[in-house]
Amino acid sequence: MALSVAIVGAGPGGFYAAEALAKADPGVQVDILEYLPTPYGLIRYGVAPDHEKTRRVARTFERTANREQVAYYGNVRLGRDLSLSELREFYDAVVLATGAPLDRAPEIPGAAMPGAYGAAEFVDWYNGHPDWRDLRPRVTGPAAAIIGNGNVALDLARILLKRPADLAATDIAEHAASALERSGITEVSLIGRRGPVEAKWTNVELREMGQLHGCAATLDPAVLPEVVTGVADARAKRLAEKNLASLRGFAQSNAEGATKRLNFQFYARPVEILGDGWVTGLRLERTRLEQGRAVGTGEHFELPCSMVLHAIGYRAEPIPEVPFDGARGIVKNDQGRVAPGVYAVGWIKRGPSGVIGTNKPDGDLVAKQIAQDITASGKPGRPALEAALAARCIRWIGFADWKRIEAAEVAAAAGGAPRRKFVKVEDMLGLLAGPARQASR
Ligand code: NAP
Repeated sequence: MALSVAIVGAGPGGFYAAEALAKADPGVQVDILEYLPTPYGLIRYGVAPDHEKTRRVARTFERTANREQVAYYGNVRLGRDLSLSELREFYDAVVLATGAPLDRAPEIPGAAMPGAYGAAEFVDWYNGHPDWRDLRPRVTGPAAAIIGNGNVALDLARILLKRPADLAATDIAEHAASALERSGITEVSLIGRRGPVEAKWTNVELREMGQLHGCAATLDPAVLPEVVTGVADARAKRLAEKNLASLRGFAQSNAEGATKRLNFQFYARPVEILGDGWVTGLRLERTRLEQGRAVGTGEHFELPCSMVLHAIGYRAEPIPEVPFDGARGIVKNDQGRVAPGVYAVGWIKRGPSGVIGTNKPDGDLVAKQIAQDITASGKPGRPALEAALAARCIRWIGFADWKRIEAAEVAAAAGGAPRRKFVKVEDMLGLLAGPARQASR
């Protein structure tokens, strides 16, 4: 009997696992379950709209989905449509690949103030994620502050500062494009609790911030050390040196004529989001480093702004029946092993770090673990899943259905955009129920 594996989550973690399993065992049956009708997770809803090239990896995932051993079941939610116990009854192995879709929020007064948003919800909003299309953030200028010095913070800053014309040829959701066009944001501050050497962003992404049309990247050159010290790892040291060089370039560049400003604020930790029913500013404390950690100096200052975005990391959503490590925001696991026959890959296993390709080794490992752990396959797999879904009248989306959705999105695109995303699940299902309609937003 063929080994049957259910993968929950159709993002990079799930697809790399499916590919590794299919490659390792020509007889395996791999079913990818996803709560949205659309596959690709972070590729579709996390990658910034102006980074379309990064989305090309979806072509690789499509080849995986088209493998004979692999089937896609979109619009099927674990915990609502099926329980984990049921999946374990149906399949020899279950791989959890649901990522880390939730924000870690700063634990400071005012964190819930209207006008303060987490990166996960804000990114999902501008990327047209159906769950966040109604976020309706009040994107008002002239100033916004972004907490965090990672690549997500840079994504947010770029999207806030780019001219509407620069976003026109992207698949940014129309509701976001029009809100940003009206925003009047001319100044964005990027807040780092540590220094430029400790920042987590990568250099290509940092350099891009110096190329924004009509926008000057500014910082106090006094915060830039002459040389990088205290970084033992050679690769991390080279990255820090490149980042310093880029920041030096920003500090020396001529800001004349710029109508927008991106201001790097290092050694500043947020202590309160200020406001009275709406964000009016951010109160910060100057820091110094002690053994690599940011320690408050007692010197405070305020940064007026009408919007605060925090990009300080993501966490996974707990899964019913699965032990959860709340502090790390991941499922409890031992190198990916969660329980007999249950595994985890990607950000729900490791936490939110690395690039898309970092998920590939997780896929390779889980394929090996399953081969080691499960020597006899005796579960029904796909027929049992389909019978349960049919009995519950759940309209699952196969990969061919998704291709129809995708084709409609591509056909509806205008002005050089790669696609015009559906932002409502019901519109996607409506398209599949009837003759092709225009993508609605
Ligand atoms: P990240 O790289 O871990 O950066 C998080 C930032 O938040 C750090 O600067 C961290 O500072 C700061 N922070 C954490 N807690 C804080 C607090 N309580 N107060 C103030 N600051 C705090 O996370 P991310 O930016 O969310 O990115 C997640 C992963 O996705 C990363 O691996 C990233 O490279 C990847 N990604 C890549 C791209 C790309 O390649 N273009 C785009 C987006 C995301 P400390 O260092 O002091 O903790």
